[in-house]
Amino acid sequence: MKKQLILATILLIISTFSCVEKDNKSNKPYVILISFDGFRHDYVEKYNTPNFKALIKEGVAADAMLPSYPSKTFPNHYTIVTGMYPDNHGLVDNNFYDAELDLQYSISNRDVVENPAFYGGLPLWQLVQQNDMKSASYFWVGSETSIAGSYPNYYHIYDGSVPNDERVNAVIEWLKLPENERPNFISLYFSLVDSAGHGFGPNGEKTKEAVLEADRLLGLLMTLVNQIDLPINIVVTSDHGMHEITPQEDSYITVPDLLGGLDRDKFRFVSNGAHGHFYGADTAYLAEIANILKTRKESSNYQVFFKAEMPEYWHYGTNNRVGDLFVKMNPGHYLTSPQRKSQAIRLQAFRGEHGFDPGETEDMGAIFYAKGPNFKSGMKIGKFRNIHVYPLIASVLGITSLPEIDGNLEVLKPILK
Ligand SMILES: [Zn+2]
Repeated sequence: MKKQLILATILLIISTFSCVEKDNKSNKPYVILISFDGFRHDYVEKYNTPNFKALIKEGVAADAMLPSYPSKTFPNHYTIVTGMYPDNHGLVDNNFYDAELDLQYSISNRDVVENPAFYGGLPLWQLVQQNDMKSASYFWVGSETSIAGSYPNYYHIYDGSVPNDERVNAVIEWLKLPENERPNFISLYFSLVDSAGHGFGPNGEKTKEAVLEADRLLGLLMTLVNQIDLPINIVVTSDHGMHEITPQEDSYITVPDLLGGLDRDKFRFVSNGAHGHFYGADTAYLAEIANILKTRKESSNYQVFFKAEMPEYWHYGTNNRVGDLFVKMNPGHYLTSPQRKSQAIRLQAFRGEHGFDPGETEDMGAIFYAKGPNFKSGMKIGKFRNIHVYPLIASVLGITSLPEIDGNLEVLKPILK
């Protein structure tokens, strides 16, 4: 009799425990972090997007999210998932040189893109896994690389040809997995708005069409998420905005024109269009280059900086991967090849570019909208820097112990319930 009682008590304790654990687990929130590359802060109003507006009405919207300098795709996507400035996470640009590794990073070179030596910080996928949850990525900068010794639990090697609807459906399938396989953090990326913005400029008809297609995708995702009975939060971001480049002579500076007459054996130059890095050990010659550049006839369209002279609010230039000398185009001016320049002018093609100083043009402003059980409803907030998204998402997922980052939870804490 006594034995039976003990057994019954043990069984009761076990079932109570497993119940509590199950409840805790299924109550854990989920976060889908979306990036619509190149989605400018004013596109929702400018192009009147119904699904974005519906999400904003029920959630939180920022006037703009400020990209980190430089306002390029790779550094900013990686800032969003690490909470660090590009100088600190190490992906300082889309294209740059690392002298220690003697490797040039370039977003189109798979070998370097998948080389963990370029990636610092602890991305959200890994942070989530270290906190006993699963993570997934349908594309994001850094998700195809083994960082801190691991990949997201589920991820895809970037392939821009994968239809956007397929990406949305895959995210929904992840959320329908059995509880112990289901990822609590999912990243999702779309390039269509950036591509149209580059090709036709932020005011182009094709850009409007791409923004409306992005809106349809967001609507599809929201509809499918609503059919799942889980506490799912949607965080919609972009990496940067877009600035119009008019098809006229002084909009473009060619690399041969910029570097004309310089001794190319004495430095390495890496262009990113909105700016370029000069790497070289010969400081005296770099100073000579700076003086030459300052006297060129196009010099009113750009500025030249040694690292120590860079504006403080850029938080940029302490990393060895940033050029020893740096040339920054003023908004509206772009560094390109002679072929591209002549083509743009011949075709009278309006284009869009980014990478410019967010302090000089509001057009670099990105988006931040969030909706879900953890966010307040109908709340508008001012501009903030994209380093603060990381601690926000960590907090939603109940993660309190964070690595050293630049972002601060206090900035976005007021938007949480
Ligand atoms: Zn981008």
